[in-house]
Amino acid sequence: MHEAHDTAQSDASLPDGPVDVVVVGAGVVGCAIADALAPDHDVVVLDKSGVAEGATGRAAGVITPTLFYGDLPEVARHANEFFRAFDGTHGFEFTERRRYDYVVHDEVDTARDRAADLADHGFPVTYLDTDVVESEAPRLNLDDFAGAVRYDDAGWVDPYTLATALKRRATDRGASFYLDQQVDAVSSNTAELADGEIRAHTVVVAAGFSTPDLLGRPLPIQPYRTQCVVLEPTEVLDDQFPIGRVGSKHLYFRPEHNGDLLVGGSHDIVSDPAGVSTQADESFVKEVALTIPELVRGFGDAGLVNGWAGVDSATPDARPILDQVDDVFVAAGFNGLGILAAPIAAEAIRSQVTAETAAFDVSPFSFDRFSDSTSGFELRTTSDVGR
Ligand SMILES: Cc1cc2nc3c(=O)[nH]c(=O)nc-3n(C[C@H](O)[C@H](O)[C@H](O)COP(=O)(O)OP(=O)(O)OC[C@H]3O[C@@H](n4cnc5c(N)ncnc54)[C@H](O)[C@@H]3O)c2cc1C
Repeated sequence: MHEAHDTAQSDASLPDGPVDVVVVGAGVVGCAIADALAPDHDVVVLDKSGVAEGATGRAAGVITPTLFYGDLPEVARHANEFFRAFDGTHGFEFTERRRYDYVVHDEVDTARDRAADLADHGFPVTYLDTDVVESEAPRLNLDDFAGAVRYDDAGWVDPYTLATALKRRATDRGASFYLDQQVDAVSSNTAELADGEIRAHTVVVAAGFSTPDLLGRPLPIQPYRTQCVVLEPTEVLDDQFPIGRVGSKHLYFRPEHNGDLLVGGSHDIVSDPAGVSTQADESFVKEVALTIPELVRGFGDAGLVNGWAGVDSATPDARPILDQVDDVFVAAGFNGLGILAAPIAAEAIRSQVTAETAAFDVSPFSFDRFSDSTSGFELRTTSDVGR
């Protein structure tokens, strides 16, 4: 989790005349959309706090587009290519790392079929028995499992650095960021602030769980809280230690550059997203402390480095809305996957703003796929998706 505040603010006063595009929200998604539109649009980004101060700065940064979007192969390919192309520019780093998703005995057939299907689409995905996994990654312990699905195109990023790198490139391309600017409401061509409004030909809202409030209407989006802790093992992890997920326990983990282990999990719909604790719960820390030593060797006496919680937004089918709602463009409902999906959102929104053909079919992200836009729904966690 990043504590620093990106203080680089535009000194200029807010624009008087209409601009091409106003983006509300400077999380990773707003920054990615600004970056994608800035080459040929006059773009203004507004955020009530700072860059990556919402869910983005609290994310684990695990990047596995193939796992979560492999059923939409062109979408997954677009995200996979983005992270490799952006790596090494504007201070951004993509750390490539193999990923193993542990598979319990009664899920072997499903996991094998899914791995084979993804491989048929050209993705480097394989189902492996436990002895093979443990020979490749000796710190993993799969005693209670039948095998694992290996993704050879996974990796991780520092989400704060990704957002600020996108902001930097967007700024180089001419976008202006105005931070500490609370937007009260939007319409198809205005963003209303406490002391006036900004007019724009196009308004994009990428404000996380606050998006329905800004539009002043219900959307099939619910805020949910999720958590991370960092553990320091007695023997540091080496620089090839893989990313992992134990769906049956709703936990995932990735190494840190210093050999610690970041562990994420727990998903609870919340009614007061602004008021929830940003600390990890003691019960979650205990669960991690009990579970991880069984899965990763050398964590019996691990120390707790830190822990935190953040709030993201969920939709009924665990896919974001990237579409116009009442003539306002919306990019929200990332279901714990908005870091890896930021380039997907940027491409989908750019194609609709410019009427260009997107790199993939954007219809899976349409608003009208939800017939009942107001009712609550059961949360599908990232542990359930892609299994
Ligand atoms: C603990 C945790 C772990 C996660 N791990 C991963 C992971 O490993 N991989 C992954 O892909 N995703 C992960 N995610 C999900 C990811 O963080 C989010 O999906 C993503 O950050 C969403 O980005 P965003 O820009 O839409 O929202 P946010 O980052 O929440 O940004 C929204 C912005 O809108 C601004 N805003 C809100 N209301 C207003 C207003 N009225 N006026 C002006 N500005 C406003 C906020 O200040 C904020 O900066 C994780 C999330 C959490 C909480």
